[in-house]
Amino acid sequence: MVTSGPQVIDDASAVAVEHEAERLFTTLMNVSCRPGTRWTLELCREIAPLTLEINRLKERRNAIILAHSYVDAEIVYGVADFKSDSYALALEARHSDAEVIVFVGVVFMAETAKILCPHAEVLVPDIASGCSLADSLTADELRALKAEHPDAAVVCYINSTAEVKAESDVCVTSGNALKILERLPERRILFVPDRIMAANLQRDLRARGVDKEIVSSSGTCLVHDQFTAAAIAEERVRFPGVSVVSHPECAPEVTDASDFVGSTQAMMEHVRDSDAPYYMMLTECGLVGRLEAEHPGKRFIGSCRLCPYMKLNSLAKIRDALVRPEPEQVIEVDPQIARAAKVSIDRMFELAA
Ligand code: SF4
Repeated sequence: MVTSGPQVIDDASAVAVEHEAERLFTTLMNVSCRPGTRWTLELCREIAPLTLEINRLKERRNAIILAHSYVDAEIVYGVADFKSDSYALALEARHSDAEVIVFVGVVFMAETAKILCPHAEVLVPDIASGCSLADSLTADELRALKAEHPDAAVVCYINSTAEVKAESDVCVTSGNALKILERLPERRILFVPDRIMAANLQRDLRARGVDKEIVSSSGTCLVHDQFTAAAIAEERVRFPGVSVVSHPECAPEVTDASDFVGSTQAMMEHVRDSDAPYYMMLTECGLVGRLEAEHPGKRFIGSCRLCPYMKLNSLAKIRDALVRPEPEQVIEVDPQIARAAKVSIDRMFELAA
């Protein structure tokens, strides 16, 4: 998607802009821009002044940009210093000595970065970039669930607010949840806020002969909840040999019907390391953009869905945040909540190691 907004930089020479446009086009040429279209050199020329300006601002402000793989490709390949999933980006924040972190993803991820890197000013391009999972459960609601299940270990998926993390014993990601649940001594697990991932984990624990009982809350991811086993069956007829790749936020009947199930990072590695004639990616379209850019020989059928929250991010908003952030673009976490949330996040790093 081409970003709108003022794109003038006084001192950028035409040569520098052309050079930047060529750099962008080299990476973006295989990536879908709008439905049915690909990036062109002309479109790259339109955004080149803005990516040049943002990259200069980063240097001036000792800033880094952490971009989730679901955001638009011109952000991931134009200005991001690190691009990955929420776990890897949290690790980057934990070890960062930058004065400013622009977190291009959704707000709960930026909160996690602030908790792990409190000395940095953490900025978000758009404060409305929520998440249907994180927004599904408040700390009060979790306290009520804890009262109903006093013997359960409280495990929160990283897609949760800082307040919910602060109320939890341990935080997990899609990549390490199974390992961490296995290592917890408690038999009963209160897993929040994703009831679908909880169901997938319950099935996977049973398959490994691990005797644990998971209860959950009612949240779902509005992107991954859209996929169906019926659509997989149809596409297997249309595209013989297709490899169906899904995320554990998809319903159990979808993950059951898939050839590979894994975290965002694991999905990327699976595509990189396998050789199917087509891939049906049951996840956010930004990840397919990354795969198109990094594996131009692979073919992806039109199966992905857009996350409206991730798509609120834009180059213009990143630039504006770096020039003069609005107060709501600056992430603050109450120190007491941050301390308690950090305990659950640090326990994740410890148990996932
Ligand atoms: S893709 Fe789903 S889990 Fe990720 S931010 Fe969007 S709504 Fe939340």
